[in-house]
Amino acid sequence: MIHEILPVGPLQCNCSVVGDESTHEAIVIDPGDEIEQILALIRKHHLQVKQIVITHAHIDHVGGAMKLRAATGAPILLNQNDYALLKMLDVQAGWLGMPAPGKVEIDQSLGHADTVKAGSLSAQVLHTPGHTEGSICLYFPAEHKLIAGDTLFAGSIGRTDLPGGSYEKILHSIHDRVLALPDETIVIPGHGPLTTIGEERESNPFLQNR
Ligand SMILES: [Zn+2]
Repeated sequence: MIHEILPVGPLQCNCSVVGDESTHEAIVIDPGDEIEQILALIRKHHLQVKQIVITHAHIDHVGGAMKLRAATGAPILLNQNDYALLKMLDVQAGWLGMPAPGKVEIDQSLGHADTVKAGSLSAQVLHTPGHTEGSICLYFPAEHKLIAGDTLFAGSIGRTDLPGGSYEKILHSIHDRVLALPDETIVIPGHGPLTTIGEERESNPFLQNR
């Protein structure tokens, strides 16, 4: 699997570009900003973007999606429970003192246990509400990788104090769906360094004593 991770925008959201090495079909996850750099990676690997997946509707993850759709023609996918949050992008821009990206149109909702494909690559959707109602993770079982959005970080978990957040729900999502994955699974969080399921199961202070 081709996999490039590019931290984008002022909050350094980890955008992932994943591609099939033989067919060159690709999925881009969380193109929050810096679309020119993302497109440069796509050209470097001669990729054809088939899907644009948004892990949740926070501006730092979705802000560049329309530009990427215009450049690639690929559809934008987001869980429908985050559609309300997506309508608040101008409010979110205000929180961060950033320019509003304009309206983002979703082509299709992604639900729990849906599959996202590009060439021979296949990812399972895990609906993991808590950071937002519509937060999802993307699990690539053959590659032992989890794109975790802002649900799980190295040594931490997503914040739950923003609209739609729930501390109870995020713990439930992580224990029931994320920690159900094998220990060797590499976790690519929405921000910051990579980790593994085993490492977080062992030492994440938010996930002990339960
Ligand atoms: Zn977020």
